[in-house]
Amino acid sequence: MVVHETLLSRLKDKTLVVEAAKVGSKWAQNAADGTRFDVVNPATGEVLASLPALSAEDARQAVVDAKQAQKLWAKRTGKDRSVVLKRWHQLWIDNADDLALILTCEQGKPLAEARGEILYGASYLEWFAEEAKRIYGDIIPSHAENLRILVMKQPVGLVGAITPWNFPNAMIARKVAPALAVGCAMVAKPAAETPLSMLALAVLADRAGIPQGLFSVITARSSSEFGKEMTSNPDVAKITFTGSTEVGRILMRQGADQIKKLGLELGGNAPFIVFDDADIDAAVDGAMAAKYRNAGQTCVCANRIYVQSAIYETFVEKFSAKVSELKVGNGLDAGVTIGPLINAASVAKVREHIADALDKGGEIVVGGGVSDLGPLFVEPTVIRGATATMAVSREETFGPLAPVFRFETVEEVIALANDTEFGLSGYFYARDMARIFRVAEALEVGIVGVNTGLISTEVAPFGGVKQSGLGREGSRYGADDYLEIKYVCLGGQEV
Ligand code: NAP
Repeated sequence: MVVHETLLSRLKDKTLVVEAAKVGSKWAQNAADGTRFDVVNPATGEVLASLPALSAEDARQAVVDAKQAQKLWAKRTGKDRSVVLKRWHQLWIDNADDLALILTCEQGKPLAEARGEILYGASYLEWFAEEAKRIYGDIIPSHAENLRILVMKQPVGLVGAITPWNFPNAMIARKVAPALAVGCAMVAKPAAETPLSMLALAVLADRAGIPQGLFSVITARSSSEFGKEMTSNPDVAKITFTGSTEVGRILMRQGADQIKKLGLELGGNAPFIVFDDADIDAAVDGAMAAKYRNAGQTCVCANRIYVQSAIYETFVEKFSAKVSELKVGNGLDAGVTIGPLINAASVAKVREHIADALDKGGEIVVGGGVSDLGPLFVEPTVIRGATATMAVSREETFGPLAPVFRFETVEEVIALANDTEFGLSGYFYARDMARIFRVAEALEVGIVGVNTGLISTEVAPFGGVKQSGLGREGSRYGADDYLEIKYVCLGGQEV
């Protein structure tokens, strides 16, 4: 046991941190070859815990157990599944402080944000626990007098899940809640940087009475072996993945031979547009929330801020003043609003985007440097005079850099906003009603925030168009991703 004192001394329930993986119905303390990997606190560099580096063989065993467990789980009534999931939800809420602490220690975000993520994750479990009772089929008016047409919805079966490090609790919550609610089983692999949060949920799942084998958490240094096993194992019906578009493409190619079903929540390059009729102060607040939450490491992050010419200077001034008030530091410290980035590659990408923007005529208004707090801390930065030739206009920065672009007309900004292969989210601030409808309809994205910078909720469908993904998470539509439609044609009816 190497669990670090920073974490251990603050936990109310120390058993929530485990240095083992959940493989089917068993907790595995060690890999067959004895290899392990460390989980490191990005704020301090301290090793938090050591976990077994499991292999494809372990994932295969989890699939065997899950297959058996799923058959029995799917036979239970929706109400019965709902009761079990609600118990898990209650434990999730009861342990929110501890889960938030674990999350901040392994991921870096400020504690208040981490707590928000735990409650947001829990809200999916509550929502889908309710939905478990409402998986309705259909009776369709028949085309023939002696036939009846029934439509049933059935669970797809066993689902393999791969999740990223930026929301270690919420990303698995959005997958496991609908999957289990409709009668599926799940074998999941958390990102190597942040596995402790998902393992803590597996501990609570055991306590809640989630049947053994139904939810596995496989730990490993890299996800590629796990991805190959899930895409090639004929007992896995579907893969659900949240992460970069690049890895989404790999999984799609790997799953092609078996026509594997896919749910993909991929990268974004969100435009955030401020029109000249907007409430500028509200737009500044919205941009702060959409840009700097989780130090800019969210898939729905405002990546490109477009401001109409007449209000450009005023917006840049007010926005920069707010950005300069952000407090960078260890997420466990009071008052900190920006934590460290997850790793050195993320820091390098932000620095490259800043250097490229400066080369191409951009000007730094706030920030621009690395902080002296440690190698993974980056100063929140605002760049004015951003243009379409800059890397930041095409690529997701995934860090605390806000480039502000100037535009003149509605047509021009719609064309700029849509000039990307991504289509996850977009935001705009305006007051004119006709303009609001026109722009909301024209943006090529799956999610639009109008006069708000915060759009995530369990009651609405979350997902992208273009190369930002396939399928939706959350809302009544979210259950469909884990269901098959079966049509039954009932003959021999009396005429
Ligand atoms: P990433 O490199 O794609 O990593 C995400 C996950 O993919 C990790 O668990 C990683 O595991 C795994 N992975 C990497 N290579 C793999 C392979 N060959 N086969 C199977 N799995 C593999 O993405 P990231 O840069 O760390 O995360 C940020 C990205 O996620 C951004 O693009 C962001 O927009 C996107 N994201 C999207 C949403 C959404 O809902 N649309 C939400 C959050 C994040 P290991 O690191 O353990 O190998």
